[in-house]
Amino acid sequence: MPDFVIDAAETPIVPVAGGGKFPVRRIFCVGRNYAAHAREMGAAPDREPPFFFSKPPDTVISTAQVPYPPATRLLHFEMELVVAIGRGGTAIASETALDHVYGYAAGVDLTRRDLQDEAKSLRRPWDMSKGFDAAAPIGTIVPAARVGHPAAGSITLAVNGVLRQNGDLADMIWPVPNIIAFLSNLITLKPGDLIFTGTPEGVGTIERGDKIEGSIEGVGTIAFQIA
Ligand code: MN
Repeated sequence: MPDFVIDAAETPIVPVAGGGKFPVRRIFCVGRNYAAHAREMGAAPDREPPFFFSKPPDTVISTAQVPYPPATRLLHFEMELVVAIGRGGTAIASETALDHVYGYAAGVDLTRRDLQDEAKSLRRPWDMSKGFDAAAPIGTIVPAARVGHPAAGSITLAVNGVLRQNGDLADMIWPVPNIIAFLSNLITLKPGDLIFTGTPEGVGTIERGDKIEGSIEGVGTIAFQIA
């Protein structure tokens, strides 16, 4: 036993389709990776290099109920394809980037939009708008060995049965191989890293009691209720 002076935190995990658990090391997120969403957020959708932010690993949650976070009156959903890294690397070339992917999942980048708007206007960091408890709901990870590497296909999110986001993975400004290449030039990727790859247009508000259902063609689904 290590000589820890307090109980060590448990490793956050995401269930894997067909059995097993994926241990989470870090969570990276891409900002504004679909042109129409960049426009709805007031940004020009030109092809600048992607930018990244992080959520703490223990913000992953795969339960049927997700708590409404404190300190916000404007909780937003962002439906996203999540990449699960199985093999690490530094300065990975986009041509070989998919060799580093263990699998994929449907995830929601929950955002306290009011805190994010304030952070943007005051030029402050996004941590408290993106990295609160249970800010990263995620469905079951499907191994790429089973489903391949989806580069196109519908990505949708419905709230209480009403379709709110309806995009296509092919509309990413930077596809998954490029994201892995950019990110691994900034940090060393390691097994257990998750990458949220950005959201299509149609983001909006959710309230307590709302039922969220997301789906990504060829990957899977996510469903939860805001408690
Ligand atoms: Mn996002």
